[in-house]
Amino acid sequence: MTEARAGRRYLVRTFGCQMNEHDSGRAAGVLESLGYRPTTSPEDADLILLNTCAVRENADNKLYGTLGHLKATKQRRRSAGQDLTIVVGGCLAQKDGATVAERAPWVDVVYGTHNLPDLPKLLAQADSAAVPVVELIEQLETFPSALPAKREVRHHAWVSVSVGCNNSCTFCIVPALRGPERSRPPEEIVDEVERLVADGVIEVTLLGQNVNSYGRDLFGASRFAELLRALGGIGGLERGRFTSPHPRDFTEDVLLAMVETPNVMPHLHLPLQSGSDRLLRLMRRSYRQRRYLSLVERTRELLPDAALTTDIIVGFPGETEEDFQATLEVVDRVRFDQAFTFQYSPRPGTPAAELVTSFVPPEVVTDRYARLEPMVRSHSRQAHERLVGTEQELLIESPSKTDPSRWSGRTRGNHLVHLPAAEVGADGVPSYAPGDLVTVPVTEAATNYALAGPVLGVRHTEAGRATAAAMARGEGWRALTSVPGPTGVSLPVVSSSRH
Ligand code: SF4
Repeated sequence: MTEARAGRRYLVRTFGCQMNEHDSGRAAGVLESLGYRPTTSPEDADLILLNTCAVRENADNKLYGTLGHLKATKQRRRSAGQDLTIVVGGCLAQKDGATVAERAPWVDVVYGTHNLPDLPKLLAQADSAAVPVVELIEQLETFPSALPAKREVRHHAWVSVSVGCNNSCTFCIVPALRGPERSRPPEEIVDEVERLVADGVIEVTLLGQNVNSYGRDLFGASRFAELLRALGGIGGLERGRFTSPHPRDFTEDVLLAMVETPNVMPHLHLPLQSGSDRLLRLMRRSYRQRRYLSLVERTRELLPDAALTTDIIVGFPGETEEDFQATLEVVDRVRFDQAFTFQYSPRPGTPAAELVTSFVPPEVVTDRYARLEPMVRSHSRQAHERLVGTEQELLIESPSKTDPSRWSGRTRGNHLVHLPAAEVGADGVPSYAPGDLVTVPVTEAATNYALAGPVLGVRHTEAGRATAAAMARGEGWRALTSVPGPTGVSLPVVSSSRH
């Protein structure tokens, strides 16, 4: 199997959320374990894997548009005596499964959210199949985290603590596609983080649809606070983050764990969705405005410097001006460091999509959105202004895409800060690199970022040094490193006779 794929190139394209980013890293790891090597160019790829999202608007149009382009590429390749393997995975594949195969029969493999471990088997089957190979199962058997992985950068990794969700927010398709919540045993998570740190990672983001209920299915009560505290015991882990908590399940012990664990970063992303109790009820979000605000108040008491970010939906079916005013009121009181605001649009398959008669007219949604946006932007600017005059330690992320004189990094509170580009020595090695920790004074604020400089100090890390060396060799700052799966977890064995 591995020999058959050796030297062939793959490209993974990710749509949607961090969970998909995490799964894409696993998909890439699985492909590399089969002998594939990465490429960034679709023209060079022998295999293109689309890791799809069913949450974003027009997700299916985008998928079929992309597949249309790939059909033409595949036909061109075939006339030149070559091939292109097209794989569709992730949430939209789980939702539409057989429909993808019917609408785009030139696709080779369609696999669902629980089928990633079977990818080698499915690719082997596709080699001799005349029609797309489709596999969708309802229950997770192997956690994607237990698979080999490939990271985009050397210093950061996504680590899933649970998959699925037991809630039933009426706008959300996740429970239908990812199934009920299942937590990974804590020792497995800690083991994964330790292995990642040994491999140069200094920042991990723990991922779950509702991290606050982590462990309930295993222990009958949430163990998320304990998990955060366990991160504190992992030497070399500079920054631990997590997403996303649910306001209903958020307990004080999580805040205390954040306070008492120095390497858990002071940043809380707490999805609000709406400030109206009536609307929260319609959304089946089982907390109310009062609960949300008291949680914010307690966070500010215990973690006064913590950054608070949120998600807000405008124009959910049935939203009245009064409901919207309640959202504005909460936004005005909390003054989020950043708010991700969305105009409601129905997602097929969700209960809210059926509430056609109470859809808010588009012009009303647009008007409300236009009133909310300046408020959240102004708060965001104020949050960056509060950084001006302070010294911040930034974890360097990347050179700027648009301005060669700037690089970007993140504060402990996850604020984006641009700083002067690293100086490059005669040997081509930059003075710091993605993965290094750099102290800078913050000098200026903008809405979505702050500016800083000059550099006051650099803490070089193993990841930063490896990236700097790769940059000096002309390989760029992105990592092309693979991480094997944990001991004892193997991929399904596929006999080469199946080709
Ligand atoms: S908590 Fe609600 S929004 Fe989040 S994944 Fe579960 S159902 Fe979706």
